[in-house]
Amino acid sequence: MDLFEYQGKQYFARYDIPVSAGGVATTVDQAVDVADAAGYPVVVKAQVQVGGRGKAGGIKLANDADEVRLHAGNILGMDIKGHVVKVLWVENASDIAEEYYASFTLDRGAKKHLLMLSKEGGVEIETVAETNPDAILMRHIDPVDGFSEEDGRHAAMDADLPPEAIDGTASILAKLYQCFTLGDCDLAEINPLILKPTGEIHALDAKVSLDNNAAFRHPEWAEYRATEELDEREQLAREHDLQYIGLDGTVGIIANGAGLAMSTLDVVNQVGGSAANFLDIGGGANADVMTAALEVINFDDRVKSIFINIFGGITRGEEVAKGIVEALSRVELRAPIVIRLDGTNAAEGRQILRDAGIPESKLTSKPTMLEAARAAVAIATGN
Ligand code: GDP
Ligand code: MN
Repeated sequence: MDLFEYQGKQYFARYDIPVSAGGVATTVDQAVDVADAAGYPVVVKAQVQVGGRGKAGGIKLANDADEVRLHAGNILGMDIKGHVVKVLWVENASDIAEEYYASFTLDRGAKKHLLMLSKEGGVEIETVAETNPDAILMRHIDPVDGFSEEDGRHAAMDADLPPEAIDGTASILAKLYQCFTLGDCDLAEINPLILKPTGEIHALDAKVSLDNNAAFRHPEWAEYRATEELDEREQLAREHDLQYIGLDGTVGIIANGAGLAMSTLDVVNQVGGSAANFLDIGGGANADVMTAALEVINFDDRVKSIFINIFGGITRGEEVAKGIVEALSRVELRAPIVIRLDGTNAAEGRQILRDAGIPESKLTSKPTMLEAARAAVAIATGN
């Protein structure tokens, strides 16, 4: 779950990471009130979950209430890369001597936590990675050792930060690591991390992504859920308690088990198609779950074919088949289904589908995953 900047800063503050005083506003008047309280000059910042807000005109300095009115009025409702600004964060403006970059994230390839630190901050780290990769220090962290202020000091020196920035950066890095690990983040990023002319180090921006798998130990995350910007398909899937992730392709995917669902995406790609989603209906899925899954897939107007890939273990073939028949009686599917049904009670399931007399234009059955993928992709691509 991605947080807005203001939520990320609130999260940082729990771990004593220094951020500027400020407040949230959804109207121009509120923005002025917050600015009055924070003290001028202030920065008016669009709250959207996309980078490059500064370049897009979503971040403006204001020296007095009139300027706050002007900028807040312009930024509210602004479209930044397809995200409409509904919320502002207004904070006390900082003087900047230098801008750095710092983040902790999970390096999935190495299966380790990764620190990235650079003295080239303020621009997107992907850009630095392309134009000047040597300017990014990358350091894996052993979870047993953790990451101390001393480690932070070494990192800051190795990243070639100036002497006056070393201690402050070391302290923030140690806190950011606490935030990342104890706070169950997938990403905790500060860009820019600034050195002020007075020598203090300070987080000017916050990008935090929380690990949804840890939600059970964070009842306080409910507050973030409430403001979460989900894609409409994902919202619907959540209402149905489905493990769904929206993607950009045209083949709707339903599979049982996360592993099989991921393999299904791979196979669809391998035969030249593209998946519209990841959807795992889990073990033991019954007819109701299948119906809900088809409703969610059917909501997606990019879907041109639906590939149902079931290898029954705990999930039983006849339940899957009943769900499909039930769904077809309840909703007019926008795209034909290709099914590969194997494993527990697959024969019974196939029999149910045959008995239901569903026309070939709406449902075809294939004996293997590869053949089913080819058929689904052929429909989706019109070949
Ligand atoms: P992003 O463009 O979405 O990453 O938004 P940031 O919060 O990182 O702000 C972009 C840029 O605006 C920063 O790199 C700074 O150069 C500038 N900026 C943001 N806040 C302040 C501030 O308080 N004072 C000054 N002088 N510049 C700021
Ligand atoms: Mn930034």
